Amino acid sequence: MIRRAGALALLLMPITGAEAGARAAPAALPPAESLTASARWIATHSRVVAAEVRPSRPVHPVDGRVGYGESGARFGAARSGRAHEGQDVFAPAGTPLVAVRNSVVVESGNDGGRGNYVALYARATDETYVYLHMLGPVPARLGARVKGGEPVGALGCTGSCFGDHLHFEIRAGRGTTGPAVDPLPSLLRWSRAAPRS
Ligand SMILES: [Zn+2]
Repeated sequence: MIRRAGALALLLMPITGAEAGARAAPAALPPAESLTASARWIATHSRVVAAEVRPSRPVHPVDGRVGYGESGARFGAARSGRAHEGQDVFAPAGTPLVAVRNSVVVESGNDGGRGNYVALYARATDETYVYLHMLGPVPARLGARVKGGEPVGALGCTGSCFGDHLHFEIRAGRGTTGPAVDPLPSLLRWSRAAPRS
């Protein structure tokens, strides 16, 4: 009886030891032969990684009622020898513009075509959200972190623009040169207010 219990204790010891080791040093790799510990380690660490890069709930970039115009305002519409790389979103001048997600300001400025503009990179989705024709210079500095829903400026019509609107782009990766995708399906999903038209 005693001998059998002793053998059982010996059998259990390596498992208990491995568990204690995993708890004491969670970042250490478990022994290769301990499949249970490996599975536990992977599960724990994927949860940690998921929490770090989990996308925040996206917010529509225009904080107000919007319209999406006609076919000329769409992604892919013809624009003097090239294709329109964003979606134009119509709202009155001065309507607040907000960050779609937790992001960092990777570009901002003012030039002839884009007017006052800002590009926000969201690590969680590895996308850059580009805002053109803003009313005034962007107050946030390069490298500044902004939270989803945080104001980044106001809608306007600076640069090459007729009629107050936000030209909004979604680009893959960090910066304004990645491939652009049609932002309209996302914008419709993110809408907080019913479209004006
Ligand atoms: Zn546009």
